[in-house]
Amino acid sequence: MAEFLDYFRKERLPHIWCPGCGHGTVTGALVRAIDRLGLDKNNIVLVSGIGCSSRAVGYLDFDTLHTTHGRAIAFATGVKLARPDLKVIVMTGDGDCAAIGGNHFIHAARRNIDITTIIMNNSIYGMTSGQYSPTTPHGMFATTAPYGNVEYEFDLCELAKAAGATYVARATSYHVTLLTDLIEQAIMNKGFSVVEAMTQCPTYFGRKNKIGGPVETLNWIKDRTVNVKAASSLPPEKLQGKMLIGELYKAERPEYTASYMEMSAKVQRTYNDNFKYKGGDRGCELNSD
Ligand code: SF4
Ligand code: MG
Repeated sequence: MAEFLDYFRKERLPHIWCPGCGHGTVTGALVRAIDRLGLDKNNIVLVSGIGCSSRAVGYLDFDTLHTTHGRAIAFATGVKLARPDLKVIVMTGDGDCAAIGGNHFIHAARRNIDITTIIMNNSIYGMTSGQYSPTTPHGMFATTAPYGNVEYEFDLCELAKAAGATYVARATSYHVTLLTDLIEQAIMNKGFSVVEAMTQCPTYFGRKNKIGGPVETLNWIKDRTVNVKAASSLPPEKLQGKMLIGELYKAERPEYTASYMEMSAKVQRTYNDNFKYKGGDRGCELNSD
């Protein structure tokens, strides 16, 4: 087991996150999951977009890409296609992943490309000062929803599942052991894997909604959850307004890069069987042998 700090770019610390922000907890869970799996950090690429959550990759000592807003999964797709042997992990936020990056998210799920996506969902745009996001619950407050959010939020796990992801799970920055276990399972799944990590943004979500500081905001998130294993024995009224946590969906389906490479090899064989190189300016011609 490596030392915890060996996974960090120590010279980049301290981090910029507000005191009590949940993003550090999720980052810690990812590092513990990677350590427990015994993976070589030189074979892991971390990709992020823009936002408070996306700053995580800057602190982690892996090969990292801090990309443009909403495009983390697009960059990760390129990395995975160029080097299918690498583990590719996206660290993204709810705004980054579900708003501007929403199309990349659903199409990566549809393709079942072997990328693990960890969504740090604090239900708000933190970095840009608290605008409501696609996961801000209906009626909650934000800088751009001063009278309450009139929109209804995405359930990102249901969205991922419906779009074709083969591993879907949810935990929170309160349920750290569960979160670490789920990230571990997600990394090992050969396909598009999503772990939604509900995290607290006390600075904007907690403050705008008068929930309180970091502890109160964390407890507010915890109180909204029910473990999926316990949910089946609870009456419907106990599940009203609750989010399920745990492993929510698992399936087997052909993985995109493997299918793509298989097709590429088939095209190459067809070409070799039907064409031969005749040199000169004429290049390749049909094989008439
Ligand atoms: Fe965390 Fe919110 Fe501060 Fe961003 S603004 S670092 S999400 S607490
Ligand atoms: Mg956010």
